[in-house]
Amino acid sequence: MHKRQAARIRVNGIVQGVGFRPYIYRLAAQEHITGWVQNSSKGVVIEAEGRPESIESFIHKIKQQPPPLAVIREISTETIPEVGYSEFVIRQSAREQEQLVMISPDVAICDDCRRELFDEEDRRYKYPFINCTNCGPRYTIIRDVPYDRHLTSMASFPMCPSCQAEYDDPRNRRFHAQPNACPDCGPQVQLLDCRGQKVNYDIHQLLMEGKIIAIKGLGAFHLAVDATNAQAVAELRRRKRRDTKPFAVMVKDLATAHEYCFVDEYEEAWLQSPAAPIVVLHSKYNEQLASSVIHPGLNTLGIMLPYTPLHTLLFNDQIKVLVMTSANISDEPLITDNQVALEELKDIADYFWVHNREIVNPCDDSVMSVFPQGSPHHIRRARGFVPRGIPIPVNTDPVLAVGGDLKNTFCLTRRGEAYLSQPWGDMTHFGNYQRFQVGLERFKRMLDVEPVTIALDMHPDYQVSRWARQQTQYKQVEIQHHHAHLAAAMAENELRQEVLGLICDGAGWGTDKAIWGGEILRGDYHQFQRLAHLNYIPFPGGDQNSRKPVRMALIYLYSVMGEKGWQLAQKYLTGLPQDEQEIIIQQINHSRNWLFTSSCGRLFDAVSAALGICSWNSYEAQAAMQLEALGKPGVSEVYPYSISCNNGVYNMDTGPMWTKLMRDRYTDNVPLPIISGKFHQTLVALFTEALIKVRGDTGLNQVVLSGGVFHNRLLLSGIISALQNQGFEVFYHQQVPAGDGGISLGQAAIASEVTGKCA
Ligand code: ZN
Ligand code: ZN
Ligand code: FE
Repeated sequence: MHKRQAARIRVNGIVQGVGFRPYIYRLAAQEHITGWVQNSSKGVVIEAEGRPESIESFIHKIKQQPPPLAVIREISTETIPEVGYSEFVIRQSAREQEQLVMISPDVAICDDCRRELFDEEDRRYKYPFINCTNCGPRYTIIRDVPYDRHLTSMASFPMCPSCQAEYDDPRNRRFHAQPNACPDCGPQVQLLDCRGQKVNYDIHQLLMEGKIIAIKGLGAFHLAVDATNAQAVAELRRRKRRDTKPFAVMVKDLATAHEYCFVDEYEEAWLQSPAAPIVVLHSKYNEQLASSVIHPGLNTLGIMLPYTPLHTLLFNDQIKVLVMTSANISDEPLITDNQVALEELKDIADYFWVHNREIVNPCDDSVMSVFPQGSPHHIRRARGFVPRGIPIPVNTDPVLAVGGDLKNTFCLTRRGEAYLSQPWGDMTHFGNYQRFQVGLERFKRMLDVEPVTIALDMHPDYQVSRWARQQTQYKQVEIQHHHAHLAAAMAENELRQEVLGLICDGAGWGTDKAIWGGEILRGDYHQFQRLAHLNYIPFPGGDQNSRKPVRMALIYLYSVMGEKGWQLAQKYLTGLPQDEQEIIIQQINHSRNWLFTSSCGRLFDAVSAALGICSWNSYEAQAAMQLEALGKPGVSEVYPYSISCNNGVYNMDTGPMWTKLMRDRYTDNVPLPIISGKFHQTLVALFTEALIKVRGDTGLNQVVLSGGVFHNRLLLSGIISALQNQGFEVFYHQQVPAGDGGISLGQAAIASEVTGKCA
């Protein structure tokens, strides 16, 4: 008899619902190992018996070649007494005290399932819920851990004998695929008219006729309409009362994406990735597409590929591109329920394509662009990414960070990893606030953590901060908004030492009660210091200015150029009534009573409106996005600016720019792309020069870039290369959004450090 050994192996990470146990089963067979593998709420546990060299090779292969969707965070092994197992088996799940397992995000349909979907011989031919261990729904159907069918919304669909046989067979691709289903036993789709009556039409025919169809997908309802039919898209806008906010489109395949957009290899990879996000791409001119109603005023288009079998079935030879937009009314919660959809969308959708599998965790499509240099730039981190953990360089007792009021996400920490929720939207909307509460309870259960500390934005009026202040069972840490942005960028880049932060943002409450947003900070997770900021200007009207860029244009023109500025405003600005102008002027003249702001976002608004590009934001950051869209890359000329020092704090003043900017536009007829390019380059030069001064004072050479304004590619890529040319080490966001969707990560990192050691 050969010498045998026994080991208990524990694997943590994303190891459930990703084909891990059948992989272990096959590996054990290869290595002649006996014993068992089991899912537990702590991760995967294996007992392995065999020759010492076999066990060694077994563990090595688990580490080196895990299944494609698995993410291994930790493997521990211990030697145990031999039991003498005669075979290797997969055991039923056990529930243990401490839950360390990570739930997988939803995974786009895999190639094998897609092949079967269109195979007339296959028993799942055109079945909209085909899936396997390598693909299918995960997070959106999970109620609790461990990830087992009875704890998902598949619980109400008992498997038929054929599906059960696949599920029980370790050699089958559907072995322990929790959502495994077929036309005989699984969820079903139905087409309903707007009164909720079942109808028997061909969905492709309806789409070709320009009908608007509400579709229940994976994480929410979409509204779909033929994207080549301008009239139908315009009708969708009219019914949805959505003036100009760009729609995303879903295309049949990658080849179709290339017809409408420029797609490089990195962008291709992200489009086809298991997360299958919406990727914002540079659009091509294509007269087929109803571009002027799909993404008016923008040179980019958000594209995604069909990520479920259900979406895949929407396309055929005639239908290759569909507008696919979230069905919820702007700022309201995602629609996930059939009855709610029929009620709320009765005046918008002509037909409803629904199914009977419950959406447990609402989750919107993720949105990203791929820049710079092939790196992911998250704009909305949701389906396909949530609830994956992000390793952070602080490991303490669990913290709950509640984010901000806009694009709210919360973040829970557990053992050196941060778990961000999907965005809940605007927290001043009660429905979103309720979803936040439900989502938070579910995350706590999934992660099995009870936070010790709660981290919140110091803003006096954020709804979510008010709620957090009432949670007196937790230790509270109030955090400045831009300190949180800085810490978020530090945390995801695993930085620990003090850095400089250039934060270009919309609005955050400052420690001096001004609205900050164009800041250079130095700081770490403990503390920060403000070293430079954009010149303060009066901010009469506060938050309402973010909806009306033309107000910011007048504020800037008058604050910088006085009466002359007001004259220019009267001559060139549109959409600002005389009486409103007079009130603003009066308020500025008595500005001691008013708020001040250093917001970079509002500066973009002001410039966009002053140039006549966009006076009124019908969606967030519209004016800034349209200004960016016009901008010519590679312009090296800059407008005048100044930097002065006041008590050790630099004032970065764009005031000197305004006279020349207005002359370029209205006297010298300089083309808008040049003016926009010059404006972007001016900010690049201004921030770079200020950072060089700050580096001289502090000796710090690492710079993190954060804040919502960095969703602007022209600015971000300009800053990165300018700073790198000056020898700075530059870090930017690649895992969470630069905007407020990412601040809960920074809050969590700061509060973790303040909270101290792990018990
Ligand atoms: Zn599959
Ligand atoms: Zn079945
Ligand atoms: Fe912010």
